[in-house]
Amino acid sequence: KETAGRENNVAKIKVVVRKRPLNRKELSRKEEDIIDVHDSSFLTVHEPKLKVDLTAYVEKHEFCFDAVLDEHVSNDEVYRETVEPIIPIIFQRTKATCFAYGQTGSGKTYTMQPLPLRAVQDMVRLLHQPVYRNQNFKLWLSYFEIYGGKLFDLLSDRRQLLMREDGKKQVCIVGLQEFEVSDVQIVKEYIERGNAARSTGSTGANEESSRSHAILQLAVKKHTIVKDTKRQRDRDANEAKSTKAVGKISFIDLAGSERGADTTDNDRQTRIEGAEINKSLLALKECIRALDNDQIHIPFRGSKLTEVLRDSFVGNSRTVMISCISPNAGSCEHTLNTLRYADRVK
Ligand code: ADP
Ligand code: MG
Repeated sequence: KETAGRENNVAKIKVVVRKRPLNRKELSRKEEDIIDVHDSSFLTVHEPKLKVDLTAYVEKHEFCFDAVLDEHVSNDEVYRETVEPIIPIIFQRTKATCFAYGQTGSGKTYTMQPLPLRAVQDMVRLLHQPVYRNQNFKLWLSYFEIYGGKLFDLLSDRRQLLMREDGKKQVCIVGLQEFEVSDVQIVKEYIERGNAARSTGSTGANEESSRSHAILQLAVKKHTIVKDTKRQRDRDANEAKSTKAVGKISFIDLAGSERGADTTDNDRQTRIEGAEINKSLLALKECIRALDNDQIHIPFRGSKLTEVLRDSFVGNSRTVMISCISPNAGSCEHTLNTLRYADRVK
């Protein structure tokens, strides 16, 4: 009963901004930190500008979000602020999604990678609590990527996956491998394996993976033990039938937001990918807004990304958007774009 009450206290949509520290390169260039975090929910961007007569001045932009985390905030604190409150309600049929949004180099992967590990720790602990101990709940993990509008399973040799909608409008990714996980160590191994399989191409790892969305899902499923001995003969069929999804959480490391602007690049492939990224980030914003406004019609069809997330955008769902920003003056334009995007989501 206590957890049921708490459920209502977890906001349906939460927008959090995380600022990373200046890196060594930026420090050596003596770049200025233009982001001023006032308290836990306000920040100011000091945009360096030039007048027509070339005198320098600063234009201030103020923003307010559910939470603003400065460069001193640890990954543990990020977890506590974003994912931790959601974990208990995953066991009560909630589907949750946590996104990392921002330009390449702003800290999306740094922020996102530890979150599923912490989540699994808490989920395993909950599984062993008296309320759930006899429920036969199990945790399942899958990890895939959307690249150029196509789906690839990162845990089965980048096999291309297709999406299908069943009669109940549930999305199903045909052939997506799911693995039962029972502790943090095994989750770590799957994540490492999946990361190694991410798009790399010839230009180097970060370059290519910044053009894809990586989606890691942790699902809670209920396993029913079939006691009927006659039915046990057809064990596989019974086992398939006896697993029921309870809730899930998706961790999404989005493509670099600046990639959506690659639509005028000389390279045709880059242009196509840029257009796809632009489309998916716009569609994502529209879906989250529709969700926030309790709209009946959620525009999933806008992109592959939102279609894949369809079942996480209906009913009793929770969304956390972590917008990552770089503090240096040279990133000002991208930072403002990221903050404006985050602002419009809410
Ligand atoms: P993205 O995934 O957005 O391209 P990364 O997560 O790879 O960016 O981060 C870029 C670099 O900055 C990495 O070397 C990462 O370790 C570092 N970094 C990012 N955020 C932080 C942070 N909050 N504190 C310390 N280092 C960070
Ligand atoms: Mg990254």
